[in-house]
Amino acid sequence: MNPLFNPLTSLPLLRNYIFDPGRIKRLNHNQLKRYRDKAFKQIVKYAYTVPLYHNKYKKAGIHPSDIKGIDDIVKLPFISKKDLVDNFPDNIIPVGYNKNKGFVICTGGTTGKPVSIYVDFLTMGKAAGITVREMNFFNLNWRKTRFVHIGNFNQYRVDLIAQENFQSHIESFISMKNHLNIDVDLPMVDIINKLDSFRPDVIMAYPATFQHLAFLKRKGYGKNIKPKLFWTGGAMLDEYTKNYVEDAFGCRLLNIYPSVEAGANIAFECLDGTWHIHSDFFNVEAIDDNGELVPTGERGHVVLTRLWGRGTPIIRYTGMDDWVRLLPPEECNCGLATPIIEGGIEGRMRANIVLPNGKIFPPGAFCFITPVLHKFKTFKVKQYQIVQKKIDEIDILLVIDDDLRNVGASVDTIAKNVKEAYLKKVGLGVVINVKEVTEIKKAKNTSKPPPIVVSHVKTEEGYRILESNK
Ligand SMILES: [Zn+2]
Repeated sequence: MNPLFNPLTSLPLLRNYIFDPGRIKRLNHNQLKRYRDKAFKQIVKYAYTVPLYHNKYKKAGIHPSDIKGIDDIVKLPFISKKDLVDNFPDNIIPVGYNKNKGFVICTGGTTGKPVSIYVDFLTMGKAAGITVREMNFFNLNWRKTRFVHIGNFNQYRVDLIAQENFQSHIESFISMKNHLNIDVDLPMVDIINKLDSFRPDVIMAYPATFQHLAFLKRKGYGKNIKPKLFWTGGAMLDEYTKNYVEDAFGCRLLNIYPSVEAGANIAFECLDGTWHIHSDFFNVEAIDDNGELVPTGERGHVVLTRLWGRGTPIIRYTGMDDWVRLLPPEECNCGLATPIIEGGIEGRMRANIVLPNGKIFPPGAFCFITPVLHKFKTFKVKQYQIVQKKIDEIDILLVIDDDLRNVGASVDTIAKNVKEAYLKKVGLGVVINVKEVTEIKKAKNTSKPPPIVVSHVKTEEGYRILESNK
């Protein structure tokens, strides 16, 4: 049966739809704080009915009645990825939870075991409120906007679960004809032809997918694609790719910060380039390697708390391996005053570059190609990848657009400048090879496009080598 025919489901959803999108604009600082305090107390109380949390909290000597508001979050122990994996399925949901009413969603596991958690219909519905908020923010009417999501629709992936279990039910009430999902595994020419006939206003895709589409657009494909906004998340977006895509389509490419465990976007980028956290839905913290909170504005590992939802609660969860620098609420030019992720997500911790001189770069801070290509005012690099093969050897792979090969600065000049830019940053004793290649291959077992920065040196391994060199 369609759960929306049940008023216990449809009424709260309707309430969410009315109240959720505008909340971060409507409430002042103190009102928002009170809202967060209340939501947090409720979610801790709920988590206490879930064996994983119950046992952890008991061991730490914490009872939900000790939690008076969000500031008390520091009293609670962290929950790791391993905790969720080891306790799946029965210990990550309340005792007596009706599994038939929940769905299992799964993180994509290219490294390590994937994490599976439970969500339910209402939780997905509330997550949709976040999307509505973001669309309202950009003056996009979510009923009329033609929306395409180019994603990974494999079994158990969150995109597919949402499509099958949520969107299909909504369709009975609201036309979803303006929403199209496209599998990222299709050939790129097929994708752009589908887009051309659908004429989307908004496209959501991986940065590398946008880059391929932008390349084809430059070659004359997709004449009818006149989008209003591009959204990307789930992979790092570097400045060059952003410029390349925005220039080809004449439309802004902005970041969102989704995660499977969050069940929604944790933050989104406004037109002023600020990453606003949906602080009425989430609490975000940043910690160092020892699990201590880092000072405001300093780089740390993200710790996520979801202030809403049923199924598996997510409270002080450390299993997402993103780097963040957090700033307190400050009025942005766009009018929002939310907590901020300064400079956005700097990439996955596992793709860190560790160098012989002891420097560590998150992937997002290791893209020194942009200034070079910007200097030569060129878009002849169709795609690139930085591969750390060994601690002291880095390959920089460039794919060149043949039509632009002989326009402007030569490939050799660009390669030489890129090499110099990197040598300046990495210090002595690191070999930099800039190579032209015909394509950049995907990693095995994934349909996700290849990342921009890859490291075959594990961060710990890097530390070990550093120690032994002392
Ligand atoms: Zn803003």
